[in-house]
Amino acid sequence: MKVLVIGNGGREHAIAWRIAQSAQVTNVFVAPGNGGTALDPLLKNVPITNLDELASFAKTEGIDLTVVGPEAPLAAGVVDLFREQGLAIFGPSQAAAQLESSKDFAKAFMVRHHIPTSAYATFTSPEEAHAYINEQGAPIVVKADGLAAGKGVVVAQTQQEAHDAVDAMLGDGSLGEAGARVVIEGFLAGEEASFIVMCDGKSILPMATSQDHKRQLDNDQGPNTGGMGAYSPAPIVSDRLHERIMQEVIYPTIQGMEKDGITFTGFLYAGLMIDDGNDEDRSIKVLEFNCRMGDPETQPIIMRLQGDYADTLLKAAQGKLDQASISWDPRTALGVVMASYNYPGTPRTGDTITGIPAAQKDCVTFHAGTTLQNNQLLTSGGRVLCVTALGDTVQQARETAYAAVKQIKFDGQQYRSDIAWRALK
Ligand code: ATP
Repeated sequence: MKVLVIGNGGREHAIAWRIAQSAQVTNVFVAPGNGGTALDPLLKNVPITNLDELASFAKTEGIDLTVVGPEAPLAAGVVDLFREQGLAIFGPSQAAAQLESSKDFAKAFMVRHHIPTSAYATFTSPEEAHAYINEQGAPIVVKADGLAAGKGVVVAQTQQEAHDAVDAMLGDGSLGEAGARVVIEGFLAGEEASFIVMCDGKSILPMATSQDHKRQLDNDQGPNTGGMGAYSPAPIVSDRLHERIMQEVIYPTIQGMEKDGITFTGFLYAGLMIDDGNDEDRSIKVLEFNCRMGDPETQPIIMRLQGDYADTLLKAAQGKLDQASISWDPRTALGVVMASYNYPGTPRTGDTITGIPAAQKDCVTFHAGTTLQNNQLLTSGGRVLCVTALGDTVQQARETAYAAVKQIKFDGQQYRSDIAWRALK
């Protein structure tokens, strides 16, 4: 089987790495890939990002399955394009991807289908947005409607911060089209968890649970980032909560899409806020939907995934998802993101990376913002690497991951030293 993975992040490196281990897979192409996928002898980078060119490549090369990592090609309709040309691809259609590509669409959808989320209103007029903030008070959350690569959300502790966010997005156009409409929603307190399932249009297969670390600095301080580390499983998601999340969020979402005339295929990621209390009563609310696996949650989830992932994805793309084809390593997997100088601001690139330890059974370094130039590995983006380890305990996974992190050198590197603190508290 020949597989094409679209994307260039740590998530795509992890997905491609696991697919390449399948006995029936002969070739794995990553478009465009990164320095890590370039270095892996089982993977081959293809320097294409244009969707039509990707479809032509898939045809010419006889690709049996395409898997899409990031949201942008999904929102641009890559799945529709491939399907029209008879190419097997796993992901949501452009219509289904609106759950992620428009926060206003997602909120209206949740209200319509009684899926728990915070109260909200959507604005294009700054005056009306300011008036709403004055009426609601702070804390309050201002979100760009469109895709903003993790930079479109301001969790405002004061009304002033919320007003400033509205001025930046609706007034100054700081996020372009993505911020030309804003969703303003109620602040939710609690603990976050990432809940991801695969869906072939009918059957649903839950992935292992995980927890991301959004803030840049230890103790959840500093600005939001794309994610500074993650681990799996997330202990907060007990068996009972798992059942409740399926009943209260996942089934109503897939069924709601169907009722709206949109069959959902692909990964559905619910970012959840779970408040305190016992598992029967604590509230579970949806912060956001994504239509793809999370980054960095994918890296620890993939480390725990056992079975033939390529086969699972192919069957899912064919509408024949096999529930029994994968299982989960009971150990904990933990990934530490190493980021470049100035991230999450404009990152410095071009720093030489050395000391990445060879992949071990229980520790793999997945690449994101890296590039290979003249046999030298250089930083090329904000999040550079995700060092991901398995351990019998959370503590052990953490020790293995940080031991590898300490061997890796590049100027300006930054990482959190407390990944999985909630599981260890
Ligand atoms: P991603 O990069 O994960 O796609 P995004 O830009 O789509 O993120 P959200 O996931 O909606 O944005 O929000 C980012 C983060 O902001 C959340 O993980 C959460 O920490 C915080 N957040 C979002 N909405 C709320 C809310 N209503 N109350 C409290 N915190 C929130």
